[in-house]
Amino acid sequence: MQKRSLQTIGRRLVKWYGCAARDLPWRVDPTPYRVLVSEFMLQQTVVGTVIGYFDRWMTQFPDVKALAAASERRVLALWQGLGYYRRATNLHRSARMIVADFDGRIPDSRAELLKLPGVGPYIADAVLSFAFHRHVAVVDANVARVFMRLAGREGLATAGDVRRDVAAWTDAALPSGHSSAYNQALMDFGSVVCRSRTPLCTDCFLRDRCEAQRTGRQYDIPTPPKRRLKKIRTVAAVLIREGCVYLRRRPPTGLFAGMWELPGGRVDDAERPRAALTRICRDELGTPCQSERKLTQLVHHYTVHEVTLHAWLCTPTERLPEDATHRWVPLDELDAYPLPSAERKLLDTTRGSRQ
Ligand code: SF4
Repeated sequence: MQKRSLQTIGRRLVKWYGCAARDLPWRVDPTPYRVLVSEFMLQQTVVGTVIGYFDRWMTQFPDVKALAAASERRVLALWQGLGYYRRATNLHRSARMIVADFDGRIPDSRAELLKLPGVGPYIADAVLSFAFHRHVAVVDANVARVFMRLAGREGLATAGDVRRDVAAWTDAALPSGHSSAYNQALMDFGSVVCRSRTPLCTDCFLRDRCEAQRTGRQYDIPTPPKRRLKKIRTVAAVLIREGCVYLRRRPPTGLFAGMWELPGGRVDDAERPRAALTRICRDELGTPCQSERKLTQLVHHYTVHEVTLHAWLCTPTERLPEDATHRWVPLDELDAYPLPSAERKLLDTTRGSRQ
């Protein structure tokens, strides 16, 4: 793409942003902390969902010190429902590192930002641009799609040569002194005009600069990544005693790190779900757990997995372990415990049917 054309695109984006910017809470008073929190939340989650979480978060943890001082359980409970929980634990660890190593100030250098857990090049550049007004172009999948279409560049947005081209184009289009407005304009433009499946080309103010539109390829650029859905079966034991449900805590790393869940696990390929439940309870709790009746069968999706969860109301045949990671939790205190969404749904149904 010609440098002059890219500069025109950059100027038009900034001008458009001046009158069409979306009203988003993290854009009001964009302090480094507010930008950091919003960018963690916006990874993998749409803006409409994040808004409510962001407002609640800022009420509970108004600054980095408040977040660093909070317990992991409180942090995960507030994140509950937003998914991809590793973001919450990384944000929490980042806050603690900022307090311990940077005197409570979010660093303003890329190298130091990249030392924070969960902060990659995208979040680092977003903080530098939005909070510190540094001259840096912020590139995510939406921005790559926009520039690939403008240039008529085919291929996967994640391919190395495409990424190099996109980085060069976004840098060349970045107008001096307008980094924050330019980058946020691109995000809004990718969300509301040059949308992934339904770009609004007819009303687009960059239409005369767009090679994909000129050649009728806007729906084919970029090439969609191939995804194969993996089907998984899991089981869960709902153990209830005197108004309490038995929960265990997940390990501090890995999927749903540090959250609480019902005892259970994955069903092996040739195994029946009920047999898997007996095996898992015996191996983990030291008692087979007698399944009384099947409560439900839920299908839910996360990343590339389709999970079918089979749940039974069970009675332990022996005393269950009680320690830091296994406990009986009163049903009316469940809201204070961060649980994966599928288990929350299951327990809410169970709780509702017992009231
Ligand atoms: S003309 Fe269409 S494909 Fe091109 S930038 Fe505008 S919305 Fe995107």
